[in-house]
Amino acid sequence: FCKLQDRIIDDCSCNVDTVDHFNNVKVYPRLRSMLTKNYFRFYRVNLKRECPFWVDDSKCAIKYCHVEACHESDIPPGLKGASKSKTCSAKKYLQPKGCDDDHNDELGYLNTTISAKAEEDFVLWQAHDDAQDKFCDINENDNDAEYVDLLLNPERYTGYKGKSAHRIWNSIYMENCFRPDNTYNAYIESELLKGMCLEKRVFYRAISGLHASINIHLCANFLKLESGGISLASPKGEWGPNVDEFNRRFSSSKTKGEGANWLANLYFLYLLELRALAKAAEYLRKEPFYTGDEAQDWDTQLAVQDLLNVITKFPDHFNESIMFSGGQEMKKLKKEFKEHFRNITRIMDCVGCDKCKLWGKLQIQGLGTALKILFDHDTSWPKAISQKRVFNLERSEIVSLINSVGRLSTSIYELDEFRQLSR
Ligand code: FAD
Repeated sequence: FCKLQDRIIDDCSCNVDTVDHFNNVKVYPRLRSMLTKNYFRFYRVNLKRECPFWVDDSKCAIKYCHVEACHESDIPPGLKGASKSKTCSAKKYLQPKGCDDDHNDELGYLNTTISAKAEEDFVLWQAHDDAQDKFCDINENDNDAEYVDLLLNPERYTGYKGKSAHRIWNSIYMENCFRPDNTYNAYIESELLKGMCLEKRVFYRAISGLHASINIHLCANFLKLESGGISLASPKGEWGPNVDEFNRRFSSSKTKGEGANWLANLYFLYLLELRALAKAAEYLRKEPFYTGDEAQDWDTQLAVQDLLNVITKFPDHFNESIMFSGGQEMKKLKKEFKEHFRNITRIMDCVGCDKCKLWGKLQIQGLGTALKILFDHDTSWPKAISQKRVFNLERSEIVSLINSVGRLSTSIYELDEFRQLSR
């Protein structure tokens, strides 16, 4: 994986060294402290949804697959909806769903002028929601969703592997990534990408980058078992980086040269999500990050401003404007892109380890949010904000996007540590 350094990141205009420096010195330390704040720490998720594709036969028995529940008293009052009004009045035209007053100009207008019959009104709202064409089939208002404290449940080695884990990755790559018909091996990247257009390559690289990131975390936070103390239900040992495990997964000799491509895909995904944050900067600068604790909310706003100031100055952002530009063909491709992605969000319900499912869902939702920012509103998006047209990010979208960037940023930082440990 040493070949990675100096490498130009495919489909982007900068190299790995530039990103390493920018991330490790500027972004990572900021995110690390920001993600301990209550607004980002509590994520609402439904881990009980049934797998819609196959009978789930993979309940994980290992202690570390378990997700630690959140005590009701730990959840900040503002997140429990005790005092929505503050969030609602903070930004007149960019308010979250659920605010009772005229929560945005355009929908408010629809609502008051055409809503003579409640049913008609409902149909209009439904049409509006459909038009938003979400990338993710994840709903934070789901009745079975619960708050999880992410700091209590770090992403790390859980022992989830074998048939169940492979079935998930396999069905993502084989059925839900764009794949040329004549490809036999879903994992040989050069074969997979042969003749693919930019949009399809971006889709594949994003998923592969996420896969690489998850696997780096489990190598960086691996359980080194105490000799003799091995029982699957309650293994004992110390947590730390496992260089052998990392080499097994990424070295060229063990991966027929694919490891370096997968790591390059991690950098690609990082740049893609960073660009989404930069594009949403104006929106996020107005977000109150409300939790009910005035001092902490103010602190969070300042931390976000500081991060956004750094990110928006990065000169080599991913250029999404060349994607999906064209006629009917491109419209069709964009629709397919969304459908494939939504399917992947549903596959996350089939992950047979709750901890992996939690972080898998969060990171897929974060990526879906990035795609929504980059592609749903095309170039008119910043204009849409200045013209006060509808654009809204739900709290869970903001939390998942920023945590996802945090995960990718941590992976890049951890890679550097593996580089040093391998010397
Ligand atoms: P896998 O990682 O299962 O990969 C299968 C095959 O895919 C490999 O043989 C290789 O040919 C190919 N491949 C590998 N990496 C890439 C890539 N980046 N791009 C393209 N192709 C690739 N385990 C944990 O311990 N902790 C977790 O938090 C965790 N979270 C998970 C979340 C999800 C959504 C999923 C599906 C799995 C998760 N796992 C987690 C399991 C972990 O990702 C591996 O599946 C598991 O460790 C088995 O690894 P493996 O060596 O068999 O290869």
